[in-house]
Amino acid sequence: MAQPPPLGAHLSIAGGVWKAVERAHELGCTALQIFTQAPGRWEGLPITPDAASRFREAAAEEGLDGVTFAHAPYLINVATADRALLARSTALLEDQLRRARDLGLAGVVLHPGAHGGEGAEVGLERAAAALTGVLGRTAGCPRLLLEVTAGQGTVLCSAWDELGALLSALPAGRTGVCWDTAHLWGSGHDIASAAGWRKTWDGFTAATGRVAPDLVHLNDTNVELGSHRDRHERIGLGRLGERTFARVVRDKRLAQVPMVLETPKGPDEVTWDREALELLRELHRRGRGGSKRARSETD
Ligand SMILES: [Zn+2]
Repeated sequence: MAQPPPLGAHLSIAGGVWKAVERAHELGCTALQIFTQAPGRWEGLPITPDAASRFREAAAEEGLDGVTFAHAPYLINVATADRALLARSTALLEDQLRRARDLGLAGVVLHPGAHGGEGAEVGLERAAAALTGVLGRTAGCPRLLLEVTAGQGTVLCSAWDELGALLSALPAGRTGVCWDTAHLWGSGHDIASAAGWRKTWDGFTAATGRVAPDLVHLNDTNVELGSHRDRHERIGLGRLGERTFARVVRDKRLAQVPMVLETPKGPDEVTWDREALELLRELHRRGRGGSKRARSETD
């Protein structure tokens, strides 16, 4: 485990989509996540071919090919009973996948939706049908990464069996999984303990048949375990703490899996992310230089 996993942050595209790569360079990111449009709006500014090629060139130069992802807007709900909302959601998601293709991204992260009170089974069926359609109409586009949620309200996929059911209804080659450490905790996975971390993995592999997630959102949190709340805190300042993140960045199964911060930015947009990335690299290093036993386990 010579190198830490690809580590980065969710960064702004303000001033032009390629600006996110400049910001990533400043922070020394080896992974990146962006919104390709304002996350709270249905209409996105188009990305011109010129802007897209500028982004692709910058990302390639920065070594960010294959480790750069888009997060889909939060408005999308592919599990809704509201037909108009569902139609807008699938149209926007298709556009997101095409934008990701134009930018050469590795995938688009999606919250799998909320059933709105009709129950998870109905919601999952609706989401599966909607996403099957979306993926069918976007052949050649990057993968869709379904994100584990904290399960707030009627939001789907805070439980592994729900995520597994949705994945099994979709073409495996077009889908992936995104973990979020704060969501795992909020949904009831005690990842702050070694035993809880093991159990989390066991549940994931049993329900999804996958060997590892494809992306990890690194967020600390101060919500209660299993509270089904979703609040992100800076790394080390929440209930997960440094020990949890040390476990995450040193886990061999995640050695090649990109990880990005989605933590509060602070006043200058740079300092807190930089500090968190330094801390994560330090936690990874300390593992290597730790006790003899740790060394023989990790090298
Ligand atoms: Zn998310």
